Amino acid sequence: MFARLRRAVLFTSAAALSAKAVIITASGDWDDVFYAAKKRLQPSLSRARKPRVVVLGSGWGALSFIQKLDQDAVDLTVVSPRSFFFYTPLLAGTATGTVSAASIMEPVRWCFPRSGHSRASFVQAECTKIDPAAKSLTLQAPHLSPQTLDYDYLVVAVGAVPNTFNISGVRENTTFLKEVEDGMAIQRTLLHNLERASALLAAAGPSPSAEVEAEAARLLSWVVIGGGPTGVELSAELTDFLRQEVRRYFPQLAPRVTITLLEATDRVLGTFDRALSAAAAATLTSLGARVLCGAAVTRVTPSAVEFRRTAGGEAGAVPHGGVCVWAGGVARRPVVEAFAKAMDPAGALQTSRHGLVVDPYFRVKGVADGSVFALGDCAVSGCAPTAQAAVQQGRYLGRAFRDALPALAQEAPPLAPFTFRSRGALAYTGGGTGVAELASLKRALWDAHPQKGGARGGEGATTLEGAPAFAVWRGLYFSSILSTSNQFRVAFDWFRTIAFGREISAPGGPGPAR
Ligand SMILES: Cc1cc2nc3c(=O)[nH]c(=O)nc-3n(C[C@H](O)[C@H](O)[C@H](O)COP(=O)(O)OP(=O)(O)OC[C@H]3O[C@@H](n4cnc5c(N)ncnc54)[C@H](O)[C@@H]3O)c2cc1C
Repeated sequence: MFARLRRAVLFTSAAALSAKAVIITASGDWDDVFYAAKKRLQPSLSRARKPRVVVLGSGWGALSFIQKLDQDAVDLTVVSPRSFFFYTPLLAGTATGTVSAASIMEPVRWCFPRSGHSRASFVQAECTKIDPAAKSLTLQAPHLSPQTLDYDYLVVAVGAVPNTFNISGVRENTTFLKEVEDGMAIQRTLLHNLERASALLAAAGPSPSAEVEAEAARLLSWVVIGGGPTGVELSAELTDFLRQEVRRYFPQLAPRVTITLLEATDRVLGTFDRALSAAAAATLTSLGARVLCGAAVTRVTPSAVEFRRTAGGEAGAVPHGGVCVWAGGVARRPVVEAFAKAMDPAGALQTSRHGLVVDPYFRVKGVADGSVFALGDCAVSGCAPTAQAAVQQGRYLGRAFRDALPALAQEAPPLAPFTFRSRGALAYTGGGTGVAELASLKRALWDAHPQKGGARGGEGATTLEGAPAFAVWRGLYFSSILSTSNQFRVAFDWFRTIAFGREISAPGGPGPAR
């Protein structure tokens, strides 16, 4: 009896250890295990004089960096106006209530160890000035006078701002989809406009006038500008909301709702394989959206989006009642722009208008002592502005800080330069379908464990569309959610949406009519 129990315990432990080893191998994290062992054998590693490391930001790049850093070995301060990280790939789902905003937010403090020698701290403030000569920052927090903060090493991971291309009325009359608050604002306007249109039509009786019909159409016109992954996924979520919630709870309004996706170039998902772009557009159209490619927005007014056809040049307009979302790309933040200009007024090294130009170790070019690093969307490093890139960069730099400080600031640091390993691209297209371009398994394994001088793994990407791509989309994004508690919440939200539907009412009265 005891022998059998012992065998069962041994077997379970061996299985658990093997599973853990597979996970560590797949994520390329064996260095963490070796580092932890080395630290136990050499406690001085965590007691040496601690350099002051300041991280600006609480997004993908910053959190990935912090998680890889040995927080016992540095004096870490994280500064961000946002006290939480949020999971951007599911933000579009919060705009229609497929997932709730709380389910995708993680407090920054969650990344600080609760034991050991770490004295990591978080300051909720915005950095308004970086002075690399004085190695000092100016911070601005609401209700406080400006503060200064000194650093030995600075990691700038402040992301980017929406790029409006200076198109008239975009800033005033559209909502961006960049922050958690944006998703919540879109959902609120969406729900209030449904009630407003419903009340308007009810008051007008069985034969509404042409003016009432036009006003109802405006309130029920949902417009998305920008056919990249964010715009496509938001349009997909809107088609789901229309087909599931509006048809059920507002059947009289459903035929009047219009969803328009405007894209300036000749196709949506321009960075994807052409066949996948076409599949995404066809799916959205079949689900009730109008996909207008080759339509460059020229102006947004409080009640309409004006555009010009890129082929032919004829003008057009789509009415909107506030559900008008700008998903048109990103530009550099003012603090980044000011830093680049102050450091390199002639623009000899800081040559990009998109962000801070960095070397392959993420050191900002032009900072003589190599003490300022930048990563993610605010850095110009040859990678596209994606979470995938920001995560890999943050993990690389966290390891570099852990293993190679202070030599990291030397002209030729003793570590291999960063190389980006694309895992592919995914987008949800509505109705339980998606499109996916996945790096081949052979290539992914090769990339995780490259052999010196060995042949490169298979280059061909695998493309998927429809339900299989959706399954991959959900599986991959679910497994990348940072905490187990949020995995539970998101799983519950998805289940709740299928079983009981989404929210169809919002607190507060309808805002001022636009
Ligand atoms: C809706 C949406 C969906 C997306 N989906 C995907 C996807 O599916 N896959 C993918 O790979 N990428 C996706 N992305 C892109 C991805 O989210 C970004 O590339 C990624 O967030 C960049 O990470 P980051 O750390 O550079 O910046 P961010 O994550 O934007 O973080 C910037 C941080 O800096 C803080 N900050 C701002 N100004 C200051 C300041 N002055 N001082 C201090 N802190 C400051 C901000 O509050 C924030 O915490 C999506 C983006 C959006 C908007």
